[in-house]
Amino acid sequence: MKNHLASTLIAPAREHDRACLACPDGRRFSYGDVDRRSARYAAALARCGVGRGDRVAVQVEKTPEALFLYLGCLRAGAAFLPLNTAYTPAEIDYFVEDSEPAVLVGRPEQAGALAKIARAHRVPRFETLGTPDGGSFAALAEGGADGWADIDCGPDDLAAILYTSGTTGRSKGAMLTHANLRSNAEALITAWRYSSDDVLIHALPIFHTHGLFVAANLTLMARARMIFLPRFDPRETLAWTPEASVLMGVPTFYTRLLDEDGLTRRATAGMRLFISGSAPLLPDTHAAFRERTGHAILERYGMTETGMNTSNPYDGERVPGSVGLPLPGVELRVCDPDTGKSLPRGEIGMIEVRGPNVFAGYWRMPEKTRSEFRDDGFFVTGDLGRIDRRGYVWIVGRGKDLIITGGYNVYPKEVELAIDALPGVQESAVIGVPHADFGEGVAAIIVPRRGALVDEEAIITALRERLAAYKLPKRVIVVDELPRNAMAKVQK
Ligand code: AMP
Repeated sequence: MKNHLASTLIAPAREHDRACLACPDGRRFSYGDVDRRSARYAAALARCGVGRGDRVAVQVEKTPEALFLYLGCLRAGAAFLPLNTAYTPAEIDYFVEDSEPAVLVGRPEQAGALAKIARAHRVPRFETLGTPDGGSFAALAEGGADGWADIDCGPDDLAAILYTSGTTGRSKGAMLTHANLRSNAEALITAWRYSSDDVLIHALPIFHTHGLFVAANLTLMARARMIFLPRFDPRETLAWTPEASVLMGVPTFYTRLLDEDGLTRRATAGMRLFISGSAPLLPDTHAAFRERTGHAILERYGMTETGMNTSNPYDGERVPGSVGLPLPGVELRVCDPDTGKSLPRGEIGMIEVRGPNVFAGYWRMPEKTRSEFRDDGFFVTGDLGRIDRRGYVWIVGRGKDLIITGGYNVYPKEVELAIDALPGVQESAVIGVPHADFGEGVAAIIVPRRGALVDEEAIITALRERLAAYKLPKRVIVVDELPRNAMAKVQK
């Protein structure tokens, strides 16, 4: 046995001279560098006591070192557990308690708060990684010797745990295996004709399935190159297009690019492919982008639990508003949400998927896992959709209460609980409203306690300490009462 996933991402010696990563600060890494550095990170993890199946929880900025840590984790046989950099220490506390990592790695500037959390939950090691000096973990890794042999991992071994927000306020850790990640990257490489000639503008965060398992894994597996940007900036992205061939983004990337005068046919002439996903791309955006650049954005659909499920075709028609056809190996059906009975083409129902991409279940939540799978192994996605006559899939809404803002998921319940805990608040309803830039924006409707005065700014300021910035309401509207239906459910 060898390491099922890492053996496909780490290049053999004959490919070591190929360029892999380029950073805007001028740093460059070849495939040989990535092999050597990630081997040292794996060895350092092993020296920290990390073994097969252990979790390594990581909340760090997007740097090449963060990528070496991810690869090092796989090579050490551990499960990589990336955490959104926007999460506050109060939020991190839950993830650490729930996942019981062997190591917690945080940003140097957050060392105090995170070390405290690590101590409180008896995490054996706390390390830092980040600028300016690399942090304690980089020092540990770089100081070690070469000569690491990857830990054997089979297809069913755990490669990563990614937390999805829970509709009831409790986050669930989606367990992804080596086979999940490898099979999905292989399917996408074929579907998108991704090759070693490609140069990706990598502007997505790497704590999410899109930036890590789609963008980074595909590039590494194909031995392509990536321009590794710390974050998305439309001007910077345009400045790199002459050197690139592919961009992967959330719809907000494209609406922001459209705001730039520099987005022209000429600027994008050398690009091969623009991909969008993680939230619905409006047909208007698709049309405007095509008009300005001549490129038809390729939209795909996936989620943390499943990786990518569908994609518009590379050669065939890319239909605006549709998320395309199931990827090879992925079975997708639309069912009656209540009975689970498969529905005829054209009818709207619950989207369910089965395939090598579908996760192994929620971390330490066997009941929750069981309730989201059908007996025949199909996973109930929570997305409502239909399949048209040609087999294209259309997403029409979400069965689960969810707001997607700028590609990030916000569960209204979590924000409502935080608001309701504030003094002066009787109750609240959090909804998504159309937002030109983010697709949807979070808005809160609040009923104050009798006689209490609440104002928009004070509410947002108070929430800032408890919630990641993307979850904060952009508007707070104060009302006397919430509209309710006959069953007393709030009519959002
Ligand atoms: P996440 O687990 O953060 O990747 O979020 C997954 C959810 O994002 C899915 O269940 C869908 O509701 C939504 N999503 C992903 N891609 C698309 C898309 N292309 N169009 C519409 N919704 C999407």
